[in-house]
Amino acid sequence: MKLTVFGNNASCPEAGGACSSFLVEAAGKRILLDMGCASLPQLQRQCDLAELDLIVISHLHFDHCGDLFCAKYQLETRIARGQALAPLALCSPALPEWAAKELLQGEVFRHTTVFDGSQYQLEGVELTFFQVPHLVESYAVRVCAEGKILTYSGDSGPCEILACAAKGADCFLCEASLVEGQHAESNHHLMAGEAGRVAKDAHVGRLLLTHYHSEDAQQVLIQAQRCFPNASLSCIGESYEI
Ligand SMILES: [Zn+2]
Repeated sequence: MKLTVFGNNASCPEAGGACSSFLVEAAGKRILLDMGCASLPQLQRQCDLAELDLIVISHLHFDHCGDLFCAKYQLETRIARGQALAPLALCSPALPEWAAKELLQGEVFRHTTVFDGSQYQLEGVELTFFQVPHLVESYAVRVCAEGKILTYSGDSGPCEILACAAKGADCFLCEASLVEGQHAESNHHLMAGEAGRVAKDAHVGRLLLTHYHSEDAQQVLIQAQRCFPNASLSCIGESYEI
């Protein structure tokens, strides 16, 4: 299993940066986890949109789904110009009417609504969704393939569910939006230390930190490593063997 980071910025893409998006390659499949603003150019450096087998959207904040809308424009343009593209599988929380109208008109996506405990199967890959506390309906996802487990937190406040979702994972890709002293969003995002604590409680192999503000990067790493030494900062453009 291989993980490639196309975006890891919190809330808004920084100069030259990109918001949450991660490619998982396993069992011959390509699964994209989230498609935040500014991630699509990063993705296209390594992969054609039409080569994806599945797009998973953890929740409908634009730093996690913003570029999905432009991806749809690209795919429908290619179809209109005569390319024979099969509908691309898309998993997300229930879409509000405006988003369904944007995304589901035409045959670009084949959409599945996820819910707490729901599973999605591709040949050789199983995904399980865990609803986590956030400002909007939001899911962590556990991806099992090739005997390996990757759990992605999505955006989450502190909760017990994340440790269940990450239990025994080889890699836990976890948000670390906050550092000590930043309490304003602490019920719907994680402190870096809390990400470390979940990694420890869940006995994961490694913790990869995402959704952090780059000005806080060193503190994010130090505070996560206090609870879980095998923590590192995810980097845009990097790939990780799991
Ligand atoms: Zn969010």
